[in-house]
Amino acid sequence: METADRTASASVIVAIDGPSGTGKSSTSKAVAAKLGLRYLDTGAQYRAITWWMLTHGVDVSDAAAVATAADKPTIVSGTDPAAPTITVDGVDVAGPIRTQEVTGNVSAVSAVPEVRARITELQRTIAVTAREGIVVEGRDIGTTVLPDADLKIFLTASPEARAARRSGELRGKEAADLAATRAALARRDAADSSRKTSPLAKAHDAVEVDTTELTLEQVIECVVTLIEEKREKQPA
Ligand code: C5P
Repeated sequence: METADRTASASVIVAIDGPSGTGKSSTSKAVAAKLGLRYLDTGAQYRAITWWMLTHGVDVSDAAAVATAADKPTIVSGTDPAAPTITVDGVDVAGPIRTQEVTGNVSAVSAVPEVRARITELQRTIAVTAREGIVVEGRDIGTTVLPDADLKIFLTASPEARAARRSGELRGKEAADLAATRAALARRDAADSSRKTSPLAKAHDAVEVDTTELTLEQVIECVVTLIEEKREKQPA
């Protein structure tokens, strides 16, 4: 029970940001599970609000319509890293938020300031109430959501590695799909990086980890070490 004892004495808030396909989710979940921390997937929250807009007939290309509806859905995130959950108005949307339709529209919805304000508030509440400490993954966690996080990590990887990982997640893909995946990722990253409100960005005090040449286990080990070093320096 070494982990539980250490967790109780020094809870930490860890922000992990970066573009798609860098291994953010797998790394964040594994690190949180290893260290007895909670885990929050903020991309799932933006996907959930996008799913709600699409299923309620809101024109997601109309920013004003999206803004008006932004406070309507009730989004609840379960933060157990072994079994994270996401519901909208009580409906389990873990599957539906991963469809191409949601993925293709999430950047437009997440760029609307009213949506970001709503989701950011939700994220801050979850982070400050996680007594064990928490790993929060996203695009703007270190810069905007939790600028006072104990540790900020920015994951990167080459476009080729990111596209290959994403395609690998979908079994039985053909070579042509790799190019399509790469193009879709590039489009989404460009939209996420260029939006006016809290774009995808590395915080000035974030540690950058290039995962291109690393296995998932190596990335996890690297982040665990960074957190442990931080905890050792924290006052008891
Ligand atoms: O991480 P994931 O690919 O599931 O994120 C889906 C989308 O949610 C991103 O492309 C981005 O538009 C949005 N997002 C965001 N800010 C975050 C996390 C995700 O804008 N902190």
